[in-house]
Amino acid sequence: MQSREKSLRSAADLADARLIAREKVSDLERVAARYAVAITPAIAELIEREDAADPIARQFVPAAAELAWRPQESQDPIGDGAHGPVEGVVHRYPDRVLLMLTHVCATYCRFCFRRETVGPQGKSMLSRRALANALAYVAERPEIWEVILSGGDPLVLSERRLGDVVGRLAAIEHVKIIRVHTRVPVVDPGRITPALVRALKAEGKAIYVVLHANHPRELSRAARDACGKLIDAGIPMLSQTVLLRGVNDDAQTLGDLMRAFVECRIKPFYLHHCDLAPGTARFRTTIEEGQSLMRALRGRYSGLCQPSYVLDIPGGHGKSPIGPNYLVSGQREPEQYVIEDFTGRQHSYRPG
Ligand code: SF4
Repeated sequence: MQSREKSLRSAADLADARLIAREKVSDLERVAARYAVAITPAIAELIEREDAADPIARQFVPAAAELAWRPQESQDPIGDGAHGPVEGVVHRYPDRVLLMLTHVCATYCRFCFRRETVGPQGKSMLSRRALANALAYVAERPEIWEVILSGGDPLVLSERRLGDVVGRLAAIEHVKIIRVHTRVPVVDPGRITPALVRALKAEGKAIYVVLHANHPRELSRAARDACGKLIDAGIPMLSQTVLLRGVNDDAQTLGDLMRAFVECRIKPFYLHHCDLAPGTARFRTTIEEGQSLMRALRGRYSGLCQPSYVLDIPGGHGKSPIGPNYLVSGQREPEQYVIEDFTGRQHSYRPG
């Protein structure tokens, strides 16, 4: 189901919607020719036009800075290409694979780590034959316990197609978990219909939906209702957030976001350090800033509100937690450890 209003997809559309100044259109046409642009009606409505630093606009409205690339930035910042045994599959960790069904998203984030591959251009869907090969790859490997539908955003697919893929994955005995990574409940909440929820259910398998959201204002009333439909249907939800300068790089905003997730029955899961995708330097914080924000979360907010702060190591080496570490020092001779508490005070611990 498509939203009745149209998404904004060009610099001219953005100027018509008063999201950019008319004199910026030609510069931003060059950006849009390189990196896909789409802003759904739900997101356009959240943007405060009068605020030049609006954190929602910052995530979705293109900027000329996207064409200024840093030497350390990479077209494949998390190394998907090094782990692609067959088309549509990324197999980086032993017990799980990513299955990329589509390159299309409902809206395009300006900091996207897959910005070189997502977009409406080229082949937007995995072909029937490529999907069969990808499913055969999973079926032949009993060590694959979990399949993560990612992309692109899998929830832009039709209910029929999603239901078909979920059903075929569920028929593989050793696949016990199907995880869906999506931004759709926030950026196009009307898309979460009873038919779509039914398409995600599979007898005897656990389905998890992981919502990507970065600012508390994204959890609008409509987005909360959309998430509620999934959760009420027995689909647990987790969150993922990208740490973004000018969007959520202060403790209050990040804490409010984590609380909003928990209030929606969504367990905070990952806080990603912003990847080295081309033209995204304006979004990146330092790791020290990220650690300091994590300390602030730990010091002020419920244990339910604590995500894991992770970095995808460039080159395809996977995700690692990047602190902060509360075990300040540890040694076996003599058996003593120093551990920091949530206020920053240090304590010694001697195991019995
Ligand atoms: S929704 Fe995800 S895959 Fe799509 S543009 Fe945003 S970050 Fe990239």
